[in-house]
Amino acid sequence: MTTANQNAVERYRNNFLKEVEANVEEGDMVKMCMQCGVCAGSCPLGPHWEHSPQKIFMMIRAGKREEVLSSDSMWMCTSCYNCIVRCPRQLPITHIMHGLANYAHRLGLAPKGQPTREFGTLFWNNLVKKGRVNELTLTIGHYFKDGIAAGIKTGLAMQAVGLGMVKAKRLNPMEIFGGHAVKDLKGFHAMVAKAQEIEAKKKGFTA
Ligand code: SF4
Ligand code: SF4
Repeated sequence: MTTANQNAVERYRNNFLKEVEANVEEGDMVKMCMQCGVCAGSCPLGPHWEHSPQKIFMMIRAGKREEVLSSDSMWMCTSCYNCIVRCPRQLPITHIMHGLANYAHRLGLAPKGQPTREFGTLFWNNLVKKGRVNELTLTIGHYFKDGIAAGIKTGLAMQAVGLGMVKAKRLNPMEIFGGHAVKDLKGFHAMVAKAQEIEAKKKGFTA
């Protein structure tokens, strides 16, 4: 084989598909996609995304690593499962989309300022403190994420909803002092630390 041909073969070798198979939840199913387009046509939100699931899977197989991992399309999936029930190859599309988003996040390649990602991070940081979500501090954190002025404006606009939730006992103002926690908080934190240790090992993967 000539050097030029060898270089062309090297360029074509798809390390990204292997990387997805090794690191993304159910990523080993991507190669089963036959590009029929049923998922793209079934996704209720797909027309508003940059890349449909069908296109994402094609891009993975074409080795378009940066374009896939920096895309916000995976972050838009609402887990409606429309695509899964219709895929003739029974690909777990929803799980792969979330797995890709999670992997991009772990690598620090996910798009900055993406609303779903921002809320997901806020939710996780809130949950991980005590093993239970503190609805009050989560709401405050969400309202004030863009600064004090924006937080006050949103808070005033939503005050009727907030008061209704307090009356219905769906929001407890006393949670401002810390809120409830799981019974075995130490055990919960140990479990999270172990999971993070496992994730950190995966992060070191190179194709
Ligand atoms: S429906 Fe399934 S086989 Fe068809 S393009 Fe989507 S993922 Fe691929
Ligand atoms: S589960 Fe996600 S990707 Fe599948 S159809 Fe629903 S929104 Fe689209």
